[in-house]
Amino acid sequence: MIGIFGGTFDPVHFGHLRTALEVCEALELDEMRWVPCRQPPHRRQPVASPDDRLQMLELALQGAPDCFVLDRREMEREGPSYMVDTLASMREQWPKASLCLVLGQDAFLGLDLWHRWRELLDLSHIVVMRRPGAFPLDSNPAVAEWAGLRMTAQGARLRGEPFGLVHAVEVTQLPISATAIRAILAGRRRADYLLPSQVMAYIRAKGLYSTAV
Ligand code: ATP
Repeated sequence: MIGIFGGTFDPVHFGHLRTALEVCEALELDEMRWVPCRQPPHRRQPVASPDDRLQMLELALQGAPDCFVLDRREMEREGPSYMVDTLASMREQWPKASLCLVLGQDAFLGLDLWHRWRELLDLSHIVVMRRPGAFPLDSNPAVAEWAGLRMTAQGARLRGEPFGLVHAVEVTQLPISATAIRAILAGRRRADYLLPSQVMAYIRAKGLYSTAV
């Protein structure tokens, strides 16, 4: 069973790393594929360049558990990075595998703004990580109605089917966000201990996030 963890990772932080590990363990994933997004279609553009974000993710994943795999396919694709295209290419690569798109609760609640979002469950399962301070899972009626019948409380069911189910996983609540980290750095304060030290060293060396939030 393959997990797919997409994001802008601008920059990657312990909120991403810890929760990805917990989902990996909870669902006994064979792989958690980290998919940095080159050009997010449905949110403001990242502050750091695609190359810097990719390099920070590479640094963060050095020495990571074996199940963490960096997947560069969105970085290598021109145009907006639509998740539906990413899942379609993975489905082609692994026709029978159980695929699990892993989303934070905030991302799940905004799903109806995604390109061809209703097709996502025809390609993979969706695993929602409960996130601190986020609205309840049913607070977006369009998404709640669409996900409703496919919700399952049994994580083990995901392994038996290749796509089509929605499952929520409780993870340690780490209220860290990339936005807050960028604000700290732009305010000339230290963001240490919110993200891996090797990523922090890269940010310092390249002078990233010194002004823009
Ligand atoms: P930003 O603050 O720039 O929006 P972010 O910290 O939310 O960034 P993203 O790269 O946009 O990070 O997130 C990638 C995925 O990780 C999303 O599904 C998001 O919901 C999830 N995520 C981010 N931070 C956390 C956290 N602290 N706990 C659980 N999930 C998280």
